[in-house]
Amino acid sequence: MKLILINKDNPIPENYCPNLMDIGGGYSLEKNAALSMKAMICAAAAEGICLRVFSAYRSIAYQKGLFDESTDKYMFRGMSYEKAAELTAQSIAVPGYSEHNAGLAADISSMDWQGDISEEFENTPEFAWLQKNAHRFGYILRYPKGKEHITGIIYEPWHYRYVGAKHAGCINRLGLTLEEYMQMHRACSC
Ligand code: ZN
Repeated sequence: MKLILINKDNPIPENYCPNLMDIGGGYSLEKNAALSMKAMICAAAAEGICLRVFSAYRSIAYQKGLFDESTDKYMFRGMSYEKAAELTAQSIAVPGYSEHNAGLAADISSMDWQGDISEEFENTPEFAWLQKNAHRFGYILRYPKGKEHITGIIYEPWHYRYVGAKHAGCINRLGLTLEEYMQMHRACSC
């Protein structure tokens, strides 16, 4: 699988068209990401850890709805559109610039999580399990704590990006963000 970088400076490539597969609960992901997610959920369940996907593939139209809803909220408080959009983009990607639009990312919480997701998710056994095991299933914690200046996104202990087990293993071992890893990868062409 060719690794693609999607962030505020890199939109989803125009020719990219995800082959979507259902993962249950009304969610879908790109086929390889979906198969790995299902395997990961089963492996976690076998250890008594109940993972719950609460967002996966999102169409561009859906992403636009989320983005607009957030900017409207800020503007209602008196902010200019520019400022509202800038603040929104720290947690909700501009449509076409989200890994969710590519079917390569999933937001995960625990089965018994109540209310909106927050940083507190990092204190759950589910997060601890993901920290230890997600890379084995090709997933990385995409927006780690302390790397906000590189990813441009707030710390999101719930957002996991599928990159395949080989890359995920390396990224995990080296403690890098995808931005840093891809830069290194280009440099050594390994
Ligand atoms: Zn997400």
